[in-house]
Amino acid sequence: MNAVKEPSFRESVDLMFNRAVALMDLPPGLEEKIRVCNATYTVRFGVRLRGQIHTFVGYRSVHSEHMEPVKGGIRYSLAVNQDEVEALAALMTYKCALVEAPFGGSKGGLCVDPREWDEHEMEQITRRFAYELAKRDLIHPSQNVPAPDMGTGEREMAWIADQYRRMNTTDINARACVTGKPVNAGGIAGRTEATGRGVQYALQEFFRHKEDVKAAGMKGTLDGKRVIVQGLGNVGYHAAKFLADQDGCKITAVIERDGGLMSEDGLDVDDVRAWIAKHGGVDGYPSGRYVRDGSKYLENECDILIPAALEGVINISNAERIKAPLIIEAANGPVTAGANEILREKGCVIIPDMYANAGGVTVSYFEWVKNLSHIRFGRMGRRQEEARHELIVGELEKLDEHLGDAWGMSPDFKQKYLRGAGELELVRSGLDDTMRNAYQQIREVWHEREDVQDLRTAAYLVSIDKVAASYRALGL
Ligand code: GLU
Repeated sequence: MNAVKEPSFRESVDLMFNRAVALMDLPPGLEEKIRVCNATYTVRFGVRLRGQIHTFVGYRSVHSEHMEPVKGGIRYSLAVNQDEVEALAALMTYKCALVEAPFGGSKGGLCVDPREWDEHEMEQITRRFAYELAKRDLIHPSQNVPAPDMGTGEREMAWIADQYRRMNTTDINARACVTGKPVNAGGIAGRTEATGRGVQYALQEFFRHKEDVKAAGMKGTLDGKRVIVQGLGNVGYHAAKFLADQDGCKITAVIERDGGLMSEDGLDVDDVRAWIAKHGGVDGYPSGRYVRDGSKYLENECDILIPAALEGVINISNAERIKAPLIIEAANGPVTAGANEILREKGCVIIPDMYANAGGVTVSYFEWVKNLSHIRFGRMGRRQEEARHELIVGELEKLDEHLGDAWGMSPDFKQKYLRGAGELELVRSGLDDTMRNAYQQIREVWHEREDVQDLRTAAYLVSIDKVAASYRALGL
């Protein structure tokens, strides 16, 4: 057992915040105003299921309203509690500011194990929770816009949107009350993959900066890098898949609820996921070495470690043994404040959660804008763009004929160039741009200020600066 007590998740976030503001020159009082969580609403409601009334406990925390609506997911898990929801709401404030999504920070949670109830029961529970939040404007297109988080997805968001619409039949913007909806129910292409895609873009941007790669004691590109992924849920799965399929990474270990799988040759992410869907876990998977205590694999030799599940998995009891030179926090809060210090001293570079997993809320922002503008991205411009490209291709074809064998268009150039961008391409382009910009802002602070020792502190500085500017603009 460790003698040093680990702080709670919220305390951990506060500690990291404090470390950063100590380096800033904020007016007295403003620092406190930004740090504290504005309000947390707790609701206990009953739902009649299987012949008896079951009581559920849910929360919606609003951390900061310097911009409205406030934004953040709703988590379903038996481990949900007020401390956790408040920590997650605070991270949402910093995350939104960092990627310039015009929202304050919020988060919700419901103490429920979704695996214990069937689909119809989950719908009843979700609709009742949504009703409780919506009647207090804690779900509202211009005040508070939830999204998926652990244990929830498109299905729950569709129920929430429908519940809100039933309660607000004349609200033309009702669909913008929640993001992460299915595409056929007001969602946006690319939202489901967004957080994992954002992790990929973040790593691509990191590897564009040789100096940063060197700071982590590495060299080269993403190609051939050994990656360990903890949690093959929506975020971990997409991140691992894109890195393996498009960047040449090798997924050398996967850690799930029931244990870990390891293979130095690399695991087939889709295959492992299909196995989990069928068998409920990784145990019994025909290739790779299985271990019941999967957390052991966090300590394996690798190049990149991606914790993509719960908070606090890298803590003071295992930080010393982590060998990865680069950690990217795909989950919220996977590295505790104590572990952060230990890892920094060891020279490990951590790409922090508020940046690394901001892809989700970035695409949520696009979805919200789409809902408010009532038009799909690309609908007006796509064919016009194609027509203009056709003009150029026509001229190039003439040149091609004229020059004969001396010059030739690449075989798939025409087809690729002619295709105007649809919604998915635009969403990915917007996300890529956001991830690149935010990283460049953070790394500049990291390199330019001697008193800033890591990317997390740099990210806090950039983000708190933006939140402070909003408060100042409000006259506070
Ligand atoms: N739950 C996700 C997060 O932690 C998404 C939030 C959102 O899209 O509003 O960032």
